[in-house]
Amino acid sequence: MLIPTNILTETVQTRRHIHQYPELGSEVYQTVALVRQELLALGLEVHSNIGKNGLYADLNVPNAGKRIALRADMDALPIQELGDKSYQSTIKGIAHMCGHDAHTAMLLGAAKLIVQYKDRLQHNIRFIFQADEENIPGGAIPMIEDGVLEGVDAIYGQHVWPTLETGKIGLCTGPTMGQPDILEITITGKGGHAAYPHDTIDPIIIAAQYINAVQAIVARNVSALDAAVVSFTIIEAGTAHNIIPETIKLSASIRTLSLSVKTNLKKRLYQLLEQTCLAHDAHFEFNYSDGHALTYNHPDLTQKLVHLLDPKNLIYPHPPSMAGEDFGYYSQKIPACFIFLGCRNEAKGITAMLHSPYFDLDEDCLEIGIQLWYTIAMQS
Ligand SMILES: [Zn+2]
Ligand SMILES: [Zn+2]
Repeated sequence: MLIPTNILTETVQTRRHIHQYPELGSEVYQTVALVRQELLALGLEVHSNIGKNGLYADLNVPNAGKRIALRADMDALPIQELGDKSYQSTIKGIAHMCGHDAHTAMLLGAAKLIVQYKDRLQHNIRFIFQADEENIPGGAIPMIEDGVLEGVDAIYGQHVWPTLETGKIGLCTGPTMGQPDILEITITGKGGHAAYPHDTIDPIIIAAQYINAVQAIVARNVSALDAAVVSFTIIEAGTAHNIIPETIKLSASIRTLSLSVKTNLKKRLYQLLEQTCLAHDAHFEFNYSDGHALTYNHPDLTQKLVHLLDPKNLIYPHPPSMAGEDFGYYSQKIPACFIFLGCRNEAKGITAMLHSPYFDLDEDCLEIGIQLWYTIAMQS
C-alpha cells in the first residue's frame, strides 16, 4: 500500500507538534483534544473520557467478521530533553522520550488511510488512544473497566524500538514485555554514636549483607533458561558521619517474564530479609507492589502476522524485553500482539535508548508503522 504523501506529511507534523507540547500521565488534555478533532473529522464514532482521559473511535463496516483494536499511548515522561531537535519540547522537564508522540501520530495517520480504504475492510476497527502508560497502575486498567475491550476480538500495539534499524519489525511469541514490580524495604536497627557501634544495631551493615545475599537469588534460585532481574535502585540512610542511623530504606526493581519465577523471587527476597534481620536482631518492613501485567503475545495472532509481513524486514522471534508496558493488561484479557517497530538510524546519529534525555526516532519509521497498522486492519 502506497501511503498518500499528504498523510505522511501530516503524520510528521502531528508527531512534531505533540513532541513540542508533551503532557504527563492522564493530564494529556491538549493531545486528547487534537486526537479527538482529527477522529471526528474522519467521521468516526468517537467515545471520549474513557478511563483516565483516554478515548477510542469505531469504524464499523457492513457484515463485519470481528472487531480489531489498534492501540496507541499518548503520555510523555518527566525528563528534560537534551539534544538539538528543531522541534524540541517547549515544556521544561517534560518530554516525549518514549516515542508516544510517534505512536499517537502513526495511529491517526493509519486511521486516515484505513478510512480511505474502508471498502476493503472485513472487520470493524477500534482506534484506541490511551493516557498514563508510564505510571503504575497506568491507563489501561481504567479503560478496560470502562469497556474499551467490549466486543473486541483482538488487540494490537506497537512501540518504536531503538535497538532495531528503521525498516525492521520485531515480533515475539508468548511473553513479550516483562512484569516490572517494585520492592520497598525499611530495616530498623538501633541508632547511636559511630564511635560505639557495639551499642547499636547498624542497619547499614544489615542492608549491605542483604543486598549481597540477594545477588544469589537470580544466580542460584532461577533456572538459567528463565529471565529475571533484581536491581536495587535507591538506598537512603544517615544524616552525619558520626551517627549510626536507626533505619535504612531500600528500593528495588524486580522484573520477570513468568508468574512462577516472580512468585519464587518474591518469596526468596522475603526469606533472605527475614533471616538477615533475625540474625542481627533488627526489624523490617517489606512492601512488594505489582507492576504492569506481563505482555503476552497470543501465538495465533503472532503467527498470522509472521505470514503477513515481509520476511526480509521481520526479526522473528525477537527476544522479549524486561521493560514493562501496560499493554500487558489488555493481553491478559483478550488475544493480543505487541510489536517492536525499528526506529534506529546510525547514519543519522539516532541511537539513544528509550527514556534517555537524548532519545530520538528516525521519522522514516512513521510510514512503516502506518503500513503495519494498515496490514493488521486489512487482514482477513
Ligand atoms: Zn516508556
Ligand atoms: Zn513507551
